[in-house]
Amino acid sequence: MVLVYSEKENIAYELLNKGRELADKLGRKLIAVVIGGDKDLAKNLIAYGADEVVVIKSPVSSFKAEEYADILKQVVEEKSVETILIGSTKNGKELASRLSGILKTGCIIDAVDVYLEDNKVYTKRVVYSGNAVALQGFNSKPAIVTIPPRLIDPLPRDDKRKGEIEEKEYKVKPSSSSIVKITEMQTDSVNVEEADIIVSCGRGFKNKEDLKLAEELAEALKGKTIGCSRPIAADLKWLSEDHWIGLSGHKVKPKLYIAVGISGQIQHIAGMRDSGIVVAINKDPDALIFKSADYGIVGDLYEVLPKLTEVIKEKLG
Ligand SMILES: Cc1cc2nc3c(=O)[nH]c(=O)nc-3n(C[C@H](O)[C@H](O)[C@H](O)COP(=O)(O)OP(=O)(O)OC[C@H]3O[C@@H](n4cnc5c(N)ncnc54)[C@H](O)[C@@H]3O)c2cc1C
Repeated sequence: MVLVYSEKENIAYELLNKGRELADKLGRKLIAVVIGGDKDLAKNLIAYGADEVVVIKSPVSSFKAEEYADILKQVVEEKSVETILIGSTKNGKELASRLSGILKTGCIIDAVDVYLEDNKVYTKRVVYSGNAVALQGFNSKPAIVTIPPRLIDPLPRDDKRKGEIEEKEYKVKPSSSSIVKITEMQTDSVNVEEADIIVSCGRGFKNKEDLKLAEELAEALKGKTIGCSRPIAADLKWLSEDHWIGLSGHKVKPKLYIAVGISGQIQHIAGMRDSGIVVAINKDPDALIFKSADYGIVGDLYEVLPKLTEVIKEKLG
């Protein structure tokens, strides 16, 4: 059996595509697990490729990795699961590593590909800030792999697909930790990871106020999403951390990424390398960012941005 789980619905659909491929090649069933969800979600999971959905009715409230891992362990043992795909969110990574601990098996985090060779599971993982790709295989079962969001498109939805929905209530060992308080982060409510168009700002901007030039461009493109390099969020604090893109920030995959006044260090590229079209604006013709760009404009951002915004407004209305 191949099992997929993510607490995020859209990521679960993405995982089902890869899960379907592996299950078909292995001649196994594809199971999705829903914890604390409902039957409608289970039906959606079948429409996106699951053969069977296990809906967990055990009384678990907010996410606690120990309790969720205990539930998944019981599903894995009952259904003889050999391959487990989990969404690479913060919760998903903690869950996967705990599950591998209690099942005493291997776990690979953030795989960019999962494939089979002689029916054994192998993965590709980008390492050293994107300078190398590690090929890793499993010597133990079940194989646990986490896959980042938006790496794989879901299969086309098929409401005619048939599948089984099973409700289960397992006994769950209560977590030894309790949530004392949840404090919401102060954010500007941007979600760069979901954005289709990002205008990203770097140290080329001289003042915080000047970032409005990038905002105007984003608005003209109807994108309205502003990203930034680390110094803008972490050092200067001109933007909140939810704008920060890169190795230690968010990983993004927009259709269009416009890097303005960003030098293109590997740690920044690590967060935006999967973008569709990359446009770089930089006054230094030798800036590294141009190596990762499809289109480059060599020039002063203070001259280029207003002109670009004007032209785009004219074209797009
Ligand atoms: C462990 C680690 C993790 C890191 N993680 C991240 C991360 O997640 N994200 C990230 O971004 N960085 C990260 N960094 C930092 C990274 O190495 C770079 O220092 C950072 O990306 C540089 O930001 P920048 O390109 O905005 O600034 P700079 O490197 O200072 O580049 C500014 C660019 O603006 C151009 N410029 C200047 N004036 C103008 C103008 N008027 N018009 C047009 N162009 C102009 C310059 O030519 C230059 O290319 C990390 C570093 C480490 C060590």
